[in-house]
Amino acid sequence: MEIKLAAYDPNCCRCPRLASFLDEVKAEHPTYFCKPVPPFGYPQARFLIVGLAPGLHGANATGRPFTGDWCGPLLYGSLYRYGFASKPESLHREDGLQLIDCRISNAVKCLPPQNKPELGEIRNCNRFLSSEIKTSTELKVILALGTVAHQSVMEAFGLKAKDRKFAHHARHALPGGVTLFDSYHVSRYNTNTGRLTEAMFHAVLEDIRASLK
Ligand code: SF4
Repeated sequence: MEIKLAAYDPNCCRCPRLASFLDEVKAEHPTYFCKPVPPFGYPQARFLIVGLAPGLHGANATGRPFTGDWCGPLLYGSLYRYGFASKPESLHREDGLQLIDCRISNAVKCLPPQNKPELGEIRNCNRFLSSEIKTSTELKVILALGTVAHQSVMEAFGLKAKDRKFAHHARHALPGGVTLFDSYHVSRYNTNTGRLTEAMFHAVLEDIRASLK
């Protein structure tokens, strides 16, 4: 259930540092996807999740956001629990998983070295997130995973980050009747250190589910 949006360019090379890093990784791991990772899910979903960027051995390897590494189990397990996914796991692009009224995207579509995109790269890629949001006519709720995702969503709406600051489990009103929820990213670091627990993440999704009723 991949979507084909004008908001996604599989051959984009606007960020030279990232394009050359993808070439290096592809040489080392020939079976990896190693291209901009497309959004995944229902095209006209009311619920959009925005992450940071593909992980080296996760989305960058499999070509589906949050699939193949540590970030996926908490995210997809939680989406299943709250009725946004047909199965509790995302294994690979051909596993038949469907998202229900939900889509997952990233602020930066290409793998960055050390998971750290530069500011110019985040800005370059905002054109895709902005287009995706503009073409999502049914959109009601966005969940930003981490501060970069939060700031990218704000930029996509033409808003300043200082007007609505990131905080875990915060809720912000955006133009057009869209509500932005924030959560700490479902990263291995955050979950291993207890910064984000399963209960904390479930509490955010529970509120999102309630707001979509
Ligand atoms: S990060 Fe985004 S803008 Fe930069 S090369 Fe990849 S797809 Fe293009």
